[in-house]
Amino acid sequence: MAAPRPSARRLLRHLRLAVRNRCPRCARGAVARLPWHTRERCEVCGYLFEREPGYYTGAMYLSYTFGAVVTLPVWVPMLLAGFEVPWIVAAVSAELILAAPLLFLASRVVWMHIDCAFDPPSDAAGPPTP
Ligand SMILES: [Zn+2]
Repeated sequence: MAAPRPSARRLLRHLRLAVRNRCPRCARGAVARLPWHTRERCEVCGYLFEREPGYYTGAMYLSYTFGAVVTLPVWVPMLLAGFEVPWIVAAVSAELILAAPLLFLASRVVWMHIDCAFDPPSDAAGPPTP
């Protein structure tokens, strides 16, 4: 049986929390910090962010999408202005290299919140063992 669809209210809550980089369970702890670090657990409630091995595989697809959206304002105007493809590729590559840490972390945080909107974390995810 498929999981029930989350309400619009729950989706908006998770979108707000993702933008603010907050824990999907307690909404207070930070999930990630630049440049490349995703915390293992919430510092406030102890929620284990990586729910299962390979959990962030879906974030990879989000990262592709975010990369396409971020580069759109660069390559479309360059293409319309008549730049040659190697210049466009160079500009987009430079932009992606600069934006890589932000895209990496944003895709993980948004992925986590999409997952938690459809499959809310339980209290059983619990605090870390000492
Ligand atoms: Zn938390």
